[in-house]
Amino acid sequence: MADNLNTIKCPACQKEMVKIFIPEQGINIDVCLNGCGGIYFDNREFQYFDEAHENIDKILDAYKGKKFIDTDDSLPRSCPVCGAKMVKNYSSIKKQIQIDECYACGGKFLDREELQKIREEYPTNEERSADILKEVYATVGAEILEQKAKTEETKRKRSVLKKLFDHLVYD
Ligand SMILES: [Zn+2]
Ligand SMILES: [Zn+2]
Repeated sequence: MADNLNTIKCPACQKEMVKIFIPEQGINIDVCLNGCGGIYFDNREFQYFDEAHENIDKILDAYKGKKFIDTDDSLPRSCPVCGAKMVKNYSSIKKQIQIDECYACGGKFLDREELQKIREEYPTNEERSADILKEVYATVGAEILEQKAKTEETKRKRSVLKKLFDHLVYD
């Protein structure tokens, strides 16, 4: 779904969210400035802000001088754009921070400070890339091992059958 232009209500505290325009990407993100400080990203918007080198000054400026209410981030939430139930998910590679994701429209909701924590996981791009590579290698490696085990099991079955067959034919 594209950048939504309607005012939406915060999925955590139900206050109206405030749109903050990000000129670099030409998009609006929704921030709960009069409630809990949570941020809602439409589909694909989150990728512009989750890495440490990406600019979130506009968000931090909007936060300045505000007092936010606390919310319970273990409670289930509904997507403020399409109404679907959001799913708690680890969005980051290190799997330390859980965010709410909408599988229907692709929206993501982050509680206050979760964005900063996700960004702090990797101070540099190199470290982030290294960890992504490690994860890919681990997955591919496991698949290769599984494949090998299957091949060996097939070989073993074949030899058992062959023995049985030889037994029937030659005995
Ligand atoms: Zn809120
Ligand atoms: Zn949605």
